[in-house]
Amino acid sequence: MSKQTHSFQAEVSQLLHLVTHSLYSNSEIFLRELISNASDACDKLRFEALNNTALYEDAPELQVRLSFDEVAKTLTITDNGIGMTAQEAIDHLGTIAKSGTKDFMSKLSGDQKSDAQLIGQFGVGFYSGFIVADKITVETRRAGAAATEGVRWISGGTGDFEVETITRAERGTSVILHLRDDALDYANSWKLKEIVGKYSDHISLPILMEKQEWKDGELIDPKDENGGRQPGAMVKTGEWETINKASALWTRPKKDISDEQYADFYKQISRDFEAPLTWTHNRVEGSTEYTQLLYIPGKAPQDLWNRDKKAGIKLYVKRVFIMDEAEALMPSYLRFVKGVVDSADLPLNVSRELLQESRDVKAIREGCTKRVLSMLEDLAKHDKAPEATEGVTDVLSEEDQAKLGQYAKFYAEFGAVLKEGLGEDMSNRERLLKLLRFASSSSDTVSVSFADYKARMKEGQDAIYYITADTLAGAKNSPQLEVFKKKGIEVLLMTDRVDEWALNFVQEFDGTPLQSVAKGAFDLGKLQDEGEKKAAEDAAETFKPVLAKLKEALKDKAEDVRVTSRLVDSPACLVVTDDGMSMQLARMLKQAGQQAPEVKPVLEVNPEHPLVKKLDGSVHFHDLAHILFDQALLAEGGLPSDPAAYVKRVNALLA
Ligand code: ADP
Repeated sequence: MSKQTHSFQAEVSQLLHLVTHSLYSNSEIFLRELISNASDACDKLRFEALNNTALYEDAPELQVRLSFDEVAKTLTITDNGIGMTAQEAIDHLGTIAKSGTKDFMSKLSGDQKSDAQLIGQFGVGFYSGFIVADKITVETRRAGAAATEGVRWISGGTGDFEVETITRAERGTSVILHLRDDALDYANSWKLKEIVGKYSDHISLPILMEKQEWKDGELIDPKDENGGRQPGAMVKTGEWETINKASALWTRPKKDISDEQYADFYKQISRDFEAPLTWTHNRVEGSTEYTQLLYIPGKAPQDLWNRDKKAGIKLYVKRVFIMDEAEALMPSYLRFVKGVVDSADLPLNVSRELLQESRDVKAIREGCTKRVLSMLEDLAKHDKAPEATEGVTDVLSEEDQAKLGQYAKFYAEFGAVLKEGLGEDMSNRERLLKLLRFASSSSDTVSVSFADYKARMKEGQDAIYYITADTLAGAKNSPQLEVFKKKGIEVLLMTDRVDEWALNFVQEFDGTPLQSVAKGAFDLGKLQDEGEKKAAEDAAETFKPVLAKLKEALKDKAEDVRVTSRLVDSPACLVVTDDGMSMQLARMLKQAGQQAPEVKPVLEVNPEHPLVKKLDGSVHFHDLAHILFDQALLAEGGLPSDPAAYVKRVNALLA
């Protein structure tokens, strides 16, 4: 193929413009990105070679080489990985395929300064080379292809690039950066070593650089002020040395790894630019042997709620990279966990399908799940400082101090996902229940555990009361809470969309049943005294004829109508039967376009309320009945089935 010119995809041009115009503040990240690509290319080769060792040709030692030339002003990153065919070079280096980069592009504001900061944090893969280069030449050959099928790709980082066929003996890829004048610093071995140490120490393959030595200058004139010599220079020796640790981070002993290294590794594998919240690193021995390094991110990704969201675990077998997003290694409710599992037992050619069936994988998944839960339990345990007395935090170890507030942070980001586990993971349900936190009628922050609640239960209280609603305000001001407030009984406020569904799987906590305040007949058991019970019975008796009329008027809307002592200030509320689906869940299902059974609620009226007292004998009975029902529906977040009719009725009465 002779020289061809291609245009970049529009997004690439846009990205390149940004890279070249506003990205100097964090320019060194280009090296991390290019080394990471080189390392990926080696991983890919290793993986393909499992079934075809011929791909190694005569160079089975995978490595990355850095070299520079001050005179030519070039810096070259060479790998002997998988390489690219001409078509691959055109496709991969001319478009943006990576969703992360697209995501990043969508965040750009147009303000150069903040965009530059963003780009530095995200990294933009190959194109970041143009931060320091005004021209990039890529020479590459696909492993297994003939030497004559090499490719040269050249671009100045503006609208287009050229490709042509070349002869290239070695397989793999060389990225030759023609450095800008203001980036000549990078043609320096100290500088390169420093950056490699910072970002790429954990890369498991060796990164080599040609060794340099100081060479004295030529002898010219003994009387000259330089001792008779020209200034000396660093010269290359032709010997290559490894400049990274080249051992996969997770294989090193914990004590040799700094927090910073753990955090850097996290950023590398997660493409997150913030530090992780916490992590756990263990070698598991026994019938199934593996190493796990698992991280809890500090922030939830935007697509956390996407049900197809891939798991964040990379699978290695004996340090050989096998696959990304190994969903079989982590239950879906822990899909936010990022990390690495390195198995000693799985076969190298394991496929996704095989993973689903493997007993070893099952054991690993169970082990990883337990680890994550322990990690969360530990955060939860240390979340609050001991009851504050002067200077008490001094007593906490530094490590424990660092954990203060961490669980609340975790929970705000991932608590709702964790709840999915109640339905998904029976075997850990008890542990999960202890990890849940809620707001309550006595706490606005989402910080009340079931255990906290139980400890505060009133004498004679025999249930954990809760209410589900769309919003915190909706829950707090719900009519169903009135009598609980009056009697000072705490009620948990549940406002996550997943709550309704998750609570289906939970009947009790530690022997105490959970009771929705919006379900079933009102019964506070021992919390009501005899007088109150008697008054309620009397009211029910006196109200019988009115109830019968209400029932008739509302027969299309309400399953039943009864009096209640649940209410204090409101005239009426809606409840469902004990085993019925809550109105909120039914609404949610409908909104999601799913089949939901028609829920006919029970209307409960407050016999003490003036409006309810007025019903008997009113000429507006029919309208009042419907208004009562529709208002009760509004109060719990629903909408009247015929809003216009509701408005008409209210207006008629107001007029
Ligand atoms: P990413 O690596 O995140 O996919 P890049 O823009 O860095 O995005 O690279 C785009 C693609 O170019 C890669 O997915 C890969 O297919 C190819 N590529 C980049 N560098 C190399 C390399 N050194 N060897 C082989 N392929 C490469």
